[in-house]
Amino acid sequence: MARPVVAIVGRPNVGKSTIFNRIIGDRLSIVEDKPGITRDRIYGISEWNGKSFSIIDTGGIEIDGEDVILKSIRMQAELAIEEADVIVFMSDAKAGITQADEEVAQMLYRSGKPIIVAVNKVDNLSRADLIYEFYSYGFGDPIAVSGSHGTGIGDLLDAITSNLPELEEDHYDEDVIRVALIGRPNVGKSSLVNAILGEERVIVSDIAGTTRDAIDTPFEKDGQKYVLIDTAGMRKRGKVYETTEKYSVMRAMRAIERADVVLVVINGEEGIIEQDKHIAGYAYEAGKASLFVVNKWDVVDKDDKTMHQFETKIRDHFLFMTYAPIVFLSAKTKQRLQKLLPVVQHVAQQHVMRIQTHLLNDVISDAVAINPPPTDKGRRLRINYVTQVAVKPPTMVVFVNDPEIMHFSYERYLENKIRAAFNFEGTPIRIFTRRKS
Ligand code: GDP
Ligand code: GDP
Repeated sequence: MARPVVAIVGRPNVGKSTIFNRIIGDRLSIVEDKPGITRDRIYGISEWNGKSFSIIDTGGIEIDGEDVILKSIRMQAELAIEEADVIVFMSDAKAGITQADEEVAQMLYRSGKPIIVAVNKVDNLSRADLIYEFYSYGFGDPIAVSGSHGTGIGDLLDAITSNLPELEEDHYDEDVIRVALIGRPNVGKSSLVNAILGEERVIVSDIAGTTRDAIDTPFEKDGQKYVLIDTAGMRKRGKVYETTEKYSVMRAMRAIERADVVLVVINGEEGIIEQDKHIAGYAYEAGKASLFVVNKWDVVDKDDKTMHQFETKIRDHFLFMTYAPIVFLSAKTKQRLQKLLPVVQHVAQQHVMRIQTHLLNDVISDAVAINPPPTDKGRRLRINYVTQVAVKPPTMVVFVNDPEIMHFSYERYLENKIRAAFNFEGTPIRIFTRRKS
């Protein structure tokens, strides 16, 4: 089921990224740091009161021209209104309400989305009176926070989670594979959709869906049912902000959440850029099956080493996704296109694979025999048993004498052994360590 999306908007310097980091930082982020995931985070997955949501800091959209600040915060607000389920509208207690704040408020007012007013820089709790003026926005009770001191974050999270919509379910059969194509503008996503469907043009209804299903395209191939997620969104064009990274990521987040398999489309002609990493990183964190599609392979100057070199480049850039297969193709000439869906089907199967506990434990026992677990302060980690508790993505729980002694590197070692035995190609694996002696 799809996680809801929360966006933080507000003018520059009110403290959006500080608060964003507080929210996704430390214990709240459910995903461990993996090498290769970009440091400059613009999104995160968080959990509070048992509810999971993703959050994006829409600040820092850069555009050229006059009135840059006003224009860019307008864009931010537009972006959030279009894509977010809940909007956190952040202001600065020290500065009070400015003209730019008013502008944003006006836009948000018309959006009909749940708006939470967060008033940052209330560093001194005895100055809670600073928030009164922000009642005048008319969005209800403002919440006092301080990014510097970390106060009020719990209240803010309470407000966010109580405004999250009921999780939306779509109505596809269990055996349907939901596929999202993501990637920067112009990598060839729409062309690829057309090529897959074997038509000149994708014909889907443009009626803004009361149900999300209206924006998807179902099809069947070789007895397997698929749904291409958000094909309508892919064809939406013409707005300046489509080219901004945050827009692409935010749009992709929604599609990824609703998908089983994510096709990370890369332009073979241009190579890999940072933006590709942000998008792929989100697919990884959301626990989706993924593969890389290197498109426009027709225009690449090739010899017998080119494919291998490109593959090495992808592996270097996406260290956190070494499990994802790579398909090289051309949406334009349909060269190698027939290789794509079998790989999609394969990774979808791997994503729902369950390994019996005794088989899993045989592998873990062998792994432990070859490379004993770490010790810490004279105590050695003892693994009692391992069991798979979930699929989509495959999730293992390792029961040990003391979870504190488990090292990230040893967890990686176990993951590698599990992959060597059972493959799990195309899917992330989650490993949790719990105490049980
Ligand atoms: P953004 O442009 O809205 O993302 O704002 P930043 O998060 O970059 O913060 C802008 C400035 O405000 C930085 O210098 C922060 O250190 C400062 N700042 C952020 N939160 C607080 C706070 O709670 N109190 C005070 N006094 N300063 C803060
Ligand atoms: P999107 O923004 O990711 O949906 O990209 P489009 O599907 O609109 O494609 C962007 C441009 O790349 C268009 O001009 C396409 O004709 C072109 N294009 C897409 N796929 C290929 C391909 O495989 N080879 C070549 N040479 N051009 C392609």
